[in-house]
Amino acid sequence: MKYIPLSVPHLKGKEKEYVINAIDKEWVSTAGAYITEFEEKTAKYLGVQGTVACQSGTAGLHLALRLSEVSQGDEVLVPTLTFIAAVNPVYYMGAHPVFMDCDHTLTLDGDKLEKFIKTECAWEKKQLINIKTNRQIKAIIVVHVFGNCADMKKIIDIAKKYHLKVIEDATEALGSYFTQGRYQHKFLGTIADFGVYSFNGNKIITTGGGGMLVAKDSEHLKKAKYLSTQAKDDELYYLHHDIGYNYRMTNIQAAIGVAQLEQLEQFIKTKTQNYHLYKTLLADCEAIEILPFSKEIRANYWFYSLLLKTNQHSIEEIIATLENEGIQTRPIWGLIHEQKPYLSEQSYAIEQAIYYKQHIINLPCSSNLSTQEVTYVAEKIKSLLNR
Ligand SMILES: *Cc1c(COP(=O)(O)O)cnc(C)c1O
Repeated sequence: MKYIPLSVPHLKGKEKEYVINAIDKEWVSTAGAYITEFEEKTAKYLGVQGTVACQSGTAGLHLALRLSEVSQGDEVLVPTLTFIAAVNPVYYMGAHPVFMDCDHTLTLDGDKLEKFIKTECAWEKKQLINIKTNRQIKAIIVVHVFGNCADMKKIIDIAKKYHLKVIEDATEALGSYFTQGRYQHKFLGTIADFGVYSFNGNKIITTGGGGMLVAKDSEHLKKAKYLSTQAKDDELYYLHHDIGYNYRMTNIQAAIGVAQLEQLEQFIKTKTQNYHLYKTLLADCEAIEILPFSKEIRANYWFYSLLLKTNQHSIEEIIATLENEGIQTRPIWGLIHEQKPYLSEQSYAIEQAIYYKQHIINLPCSSNLSTQEVTYVAEKIKSLLNR
């Protein structure tokens, strides 16, 4: 068996054809037909009015915070169990994150969020003030971890009540949508004020690097495009009335994106089948559990989480043993409130995130992973658990 990586891109569609076409036409930079095509086709897929393609998911999150009017000294409620790129843009704005716990879905715990607001904050002159820091809370960043959904109903209701903007970090969740409840038929990332997708190399579809912003308000989309292209108020005479960024996606990236989008549903199909295969093969192992996705959604099954239910084997031991068998796995992220740049920021009642960090590893989940490979990984896991 050859080495089985955790998650790698799958570029066997029309990627090469479209990239060569972009090069033949000599449209390789931040303008070109593939960019609009990628934006329009993604919008159509998601059932939204428009999207803005950018250089990365991180750039998309930064733009969303700018448009949420988060300013220097404000606060943003964020999860601690996530990839650090979900939080760093808060610091780019000169604002402060306040770290929240996760629930059993690994996403932001809506009940704890509400408890924090009710017990630690004051509602004064239509502003939500953190009593401890005396700063205004302006927004919530909710991350749909591994393609699973956060409790959007609860979070949106809280946000409405306290006039907070909500940004959905759907960088891992392209393709997941609600099949029931208030948001039935709505894709994750299209529910709140803003949603952000990523096309980094390990995401469900990739453009090498890239991102996409979705917004409720079409004025916000217009402004996002303007800010992502250096805020040009007059393109001929170079007049600028605002500070922008060089965040626009290139035509080469978009060419890959168009080809990848054509295969998204197939990737989801493979990932779904492999997820259920792991689950079946490992069903009789009492020491572990493959974490479920919410029953309220058609998940994209981007990443699979193996939960260790006993302390008989450490995650370090499992990762090292599987690595020796040619299988790459990894622990979930280091918690963000424990990372050096954020040590001085407030965190609220973090418990579950600590548990999950110590008990979860991610299993190989690439969209080109074969049945034989999944079976091999499951066998190796079983034999090490029985040692
Ligand atoms: C990948 C990822 C990002 C950042 O996306 P990039 O395109 O790599 O900038 C942000 N948040 C989460 C949760 C991610 O997984």
